Amino acid sequence: MNWPAKVIVCEVGPRDGLQNEKKLLSVEQKVELIEKSVQAGAKIVEIGSFVHPKAVPQMADTDEVARRIHREPGVEYRALVMNQKGLERADAAGIMKAKITASASPAHSISNLNRTPEEVVSSFAEYAEFAAANQIELSGAISTAFGCPFDGKPVPLQQVLSVADCFRKIGIKELSLSDTTGMANPKQVYDYVTAARLRLPDVTWVLHFHDTRGMGLSNVVAGLLAGVDRYDACFAGLGGCPFAPGASGNIATEDLVHMLEEMGISTGYDQEKLIELGKQVQTMVGHDTASSVLKAGRCCDIAVQSK
Ligand code: ZN
Repeated sequence: MNWPAKVIVCEVGPRDGLQNEKKLLSVEQKVELIEKSVQAGAKIVEIGSFVHPKAVPQMADTDEVARRIHREPGVEYRALVMNQKGLERADAAGIMKAKITASASPAHSISNLNRTPEEVVSSFAEYAEFAAANQIELSGAISTAFGCPFDGKPVPLQQVLSVADCFRKIGIKELSLSDTTGMANPKQVYDYVTAARLRLPDVTWVLHFHDTRGMGLSNVVAGLLAGVDRYDACFAGLGGCPFAPGASGNIATEDLVHMLEEMGISTGYDQEKLIELGKQVQTMVGHDTASSVLKAGRCCDIAVQSK
């Protein structure tokens, strides 16, 4: 088995986690969480999204958050953008990496945007020009890459590859496959990721799993075996599924880092700081979350206690 020696865990809590919370955090609180994630070892942080404030009120102050955070050299601060206006806001706020999203599922895409996924990605070509002119790197995200919330079925592999091809055609070299609704299983992840890496070998792949049905970390293992070394995760395991209210969120950063470190795979995180951060997140949002390590502690902590 060829396990990677190192894995990059990207912190998406400030965006994917907080956008699902009823309680709105202040700019100061968001800045504190982002800075503490970096102090705990995050090298990539998704700090928010530039979307219409009425559509996602939790993200209305991303401009201000971006301006206020202390930027550590060597850390990538990225944000999600949904349109040209969002890209312009990201640029004005000094964001150098913008993530743009298309759904893999034609049914989902047509229902949301009245366009096929391929049409959506082709329309990003104009963003690519703006981004290049302003030194913003673009990252493509393929949402519902493993399962469609509309008909409950897996999205066919060929469909996912077709959307990936469209992103690559407009010059995007980093792509994430997102299991937005927590429907992926490890075998499917292994098969889809293996095929995607063979098809587009010059793309840097990122995997984004939700633990909606308890398959999140198993899917990471399948991704590792298929050769991917970048994963999104969310502090304290925040982040629900838009189609399943109350369901578990993203895989928790502290759970993922703990599993990888137990496997001897280096993440660069300080686990004690991560756990502290996770607890602070729970206090800020005002409720318990689905993180296992926050509940049970780390394996090595238990060993010390039982001596
Ligand atoms: Zn997500």
